[in-house]
Amino acid sequence: MTAERRDFRVAILGAGFGGLGMAIRLKQKGIEDFVVLERDAEVGGTWWANTYPGCQCDIPSHLYSYSFALNPEWTRTYPLQPEIRDYLRECADRYGVRPHLQLGCAVQEAEWDEGERKWRLQTSDGTYTADIVIAAPGALSEPRIPNLPGLEDFRGTVFHTARWNHDHDLTGRRVAVVGTGASAIQTVPRIQPIAEHVTVFQRTPPWVVPHRDRPLTRFEHALYKRLPAAQRMVRAAVYFGRELLVTGLAYRPKLMKGLQRAAEAHLAKQVPDPELRAKLTPDYVLGCKRILPSNAWYPAITQPNVELVPSGVTEIRPEGVVGADGVLHEVDTLIFATGFHVTDVPFAQFIRGRDGARLDDLWQGSPAAYRGASVPGFPNMFWIVGPNTGLGHNSMVFMIEAQINYLLDALETIDRTGASEVEVRRDAYEAYNTHLQSRLDGTVWNTGGCSSWYLDANGRNATIWPDFTFRFWRQTLQFDAPAYELSGVSGRGTRPQGRREAAPISG
Ligand code: NAP
Repeated sequence: MTAERRDFRVAILGAGFGGLGMAIRLKQKGIEDFVVLERDAEVGGTWWANTYPGCQCDIPSHLYSYSFALNPEWTRTYPLQPEIRDYLRECADRYGVRPHLQLGCAVQEAEWDEGERKWRLQTSDGTYTADIVIAAPGALSEPRIPNLPGLEDFRGTVFHTARWNHDHDLTGRRVAVVGTGASAIQTVPRIQPIAEHVTVFQRTPPWVVPHRDRPLTRFEHALYKRLPAAQRMVRAAVYFGRELLVTGLAYRPKLMKGLQRAAEAHLAKQVPDPELRAKLTPDYVLGCKRILPSNAWYPAITQPNVELVPSGVTEIRPEGVVGADGVLHEVDTLIFATGFHVTDVPFAQFIRGRDGARLDDLWQGSPAAYRGASVPGFPNMFWIVGPNTGLGHNSMVFMIEAQINYLLDALETIDRTGASEVEVRRDAYEAYNTHLQSRLDGTVWNTGGCSSWYLDANGRNATIWPDFTFRFWRQTLQFDAPAYELSGVSGRGTRPQGRREAAPISG
């Protein structure tokens, strides 16, 4: 990487599935004038950062890769974190993205320079500038640790699942795990066999369904290597099979009752004790929170060295954790499986658009964007995995690739027209979000009777795409220029005198 170079046509922020995918597609189009700024030491984003024992994707392997880079080598039907991490590293190498990467470079501030018509990025590695910023920081990248009284006085070891402390051996420890979301249910079954005791604090029970995870056979590996079309067919079948869930999730939440009965049967089979079963039974409609597949969670909870405390945490004391029942549970290790800052996007406070306005002030804890990509007042900035592009039922990589398509077409439009500023029109942004929110009204995420990280502090759903994902794909196939103001368009003579001509985006 040319560390001396500081000015780029495009700066991509983040090298997870989104940022890396964008970089690869730019390269494939022959576009070279871009940099990828990544705070971690490697590519991978969430799959680099989350290393907790048991970390595995709950979307099937065949669907959890870029469409242009199928992976016939997955070891299991659901991929393990180390192999997803390695897959992404391999993609960075194979598609020649490495020279564009600035690793260990954390973006601390992004400011729109009105005069220069550029983004000015303050980073841990000095200042960069770019005509266009593509923000791909990920929705699940900032661990959330609850502000609990007494936490700083805890005598033992504390960490979050997304910042696993591998130097702290859990063998023979008395461990408290706070939270029972996707991360907790994967890691508790791995901690339980080695710890002396595990106390699990469950504020809300999750719906857990049987897991279809299994190793892929030698025959399957040989088949997919020799006949990629076979893997594409399986991928398509998995994709459409999972899309069927949208009928219940987004259109008729009552249909979720069928799957809910399967989850109840799974619980009844794995937890014979009616008292414990009652504690583990959710009181909201399945699908309202992420549906969690696991065959190991309930068996782990029933082990004699595990206690399920069916409440949140009220206080931490030097020697342990106090549940809502006021009982002190003495532990030497405290693990927060308490999720991430999602709707209170931490990065938004560091972004200043037109007239110095902070994105955080515009969003006020309730993010919104046009097609998940663009926000008025923030010209030449686009998001990947932006507001309301999240899913609970299908592969985020599909959504990410749809967003990349949109952005590639946006870049081509900018290039073709010679525009120096592209900004979504406020009326388009508002109409889009009004419609989106009305679509969310009847969905299970809004009406299922739970509180989840899909909802912001005001109960507005700022996270989920509320329809079939192929509809999002269709909506983002082309950049819809009429929804945007394109200014400084060459030929109309609006480009300021003295400003350097933008380098072409398309190669
Ligand atoms: P999460 O789903 O947000 O779960 C956080 C858990 O912590 C919830 O059980 C929550 O309880 C609890 N919690 C939060 N604050 C608490 C407090 N003050 N006291 C007690 N409990 C508290 O987080 P996550 O498990 O890390 O998963 C986040 C998302 O990451 C998932 O939904 C998924 O999208 C993704 N993920 C995917 C995988 C996978 O593919 N297998 C694995 C891990 C993560 P409440 O429910 O009551 O709020």
